[in-house]
Amino acid sequence: MAEIKNVGFIGLGIMGKPMAKNLIKAGFKLTVHDLLRSPVEEMVAAGASAASSSSRCAERADAVVTMLPDSPDSELVILGSDGVLEGARQAHQECTVIDMSSIAPAVSQKLAAACEAKGVDFLDAPVSGGEPGAIAGKLAIMVGGKPTVFERAKVVFEKVGASTILCGDYGAGNTTKLANQIIVAANIEAVGEALVLVKKAGLDPGTVLEAIKGGLAGSNVLNAKGPMMIEGNFAPGFRIRLHQKDLANALATGKELDVPLPVTALVQQMIGSLMAGGKAEADHSAIATFVETIANIKISGSK
Ligand code: NAD
Repeated sequence: MAEIKNVGFIGLGIMGKPMAKNLIKAGFKLTVHDLLRSPVEEMVAAGASAASSSSRCAERADAVVTMLPDSPDSELVILGSDGVLEGARQAHQECTVIDMSSIAPAVSQKLAAACEAKGVDFLDAPVSGGEPGAIAGKLAIMVGGKPTVFERAKVVFEKVGASTILCGDYGAGNTTKLANQIIVAANIEAVGEALVLVKKAGLDPGTVLEAIKGGLAGSNVLNAKGPMMIEGNFAPGFRIRLHQKDLANALATGKELDVPLPVTALVQQMIGSLMAGGKAEADHSAIATFVETIANIKISGSK
């Protein structure tokens, strides 16, 4: 199997741009594409080449990484006209499509089947760790696909992630990501409820956070999102609308598999209410503001 040297990168948002920068720093030759001009210009200044379409991005690539918002975006960019698959096929060279977007597992399986049918390798490889993890190159990567393809793509994963686990066949990466997102959503909501309670009881939420973070309630969510709730700073980070998408995918998968997900459904409704209230672009730590509203007290500030 030929070594991966030329990488196409599509989707230069909060996550994609720092990941692409880490690949350049590691010595890969990058060709990038995004609908927006400014992140592309920033990447060109960092040493990448710009491609005018997803197809062009794939033409000379040994691997193409996509980091897009949702299932329809991955379908459009990979399977659509002037898409990755078109470019990868024209290249007549070994190419692996690595979709690192968090999308529905069933759509990953559809993308994999379409790629396989055209002789192009595919992996679904969503991540956890947020913008800080993307900047530091320390993401947790959960992969679905074939072991030989996974082994070849490891050189890419090693430069953007601290851990990379092959979880199973096509779609397994995104099923694992749904598990991740269920746990994170429920944890954020619980941290929000707890901090609202202690604030109403007259305690300092920062002191409470310090007191409990070394015990069983301690978590990465508590450490990362607790301080944001205490400061009332809900700048993204991970946008509410993206977590809504993940929980909708989790509930749809639960329905397919006959698995009730009651807490997931409840938090998804809370997030729906926040979106209706204009908070779709806020960080998901703003789930706490739902609890603040129904309790009529803010975690941040002196009152
Ligand atoms: P984002 O909205 O910041 O970035 C998405 C990028 O894709 C944008 O630059 C957009 O212009 C580009 N794009 C969309 N459609 C395109 C198309 N057709 N062609 C070319 N470019 C296109 O999103 P993000 O926060 O970077 O998240 C990307 C994915 O990673 C999502 O699936 C998200 O759920 C997941 N994720 C995000 C975080 C986080 O903390 N932000 C953490 C883990 C996983």
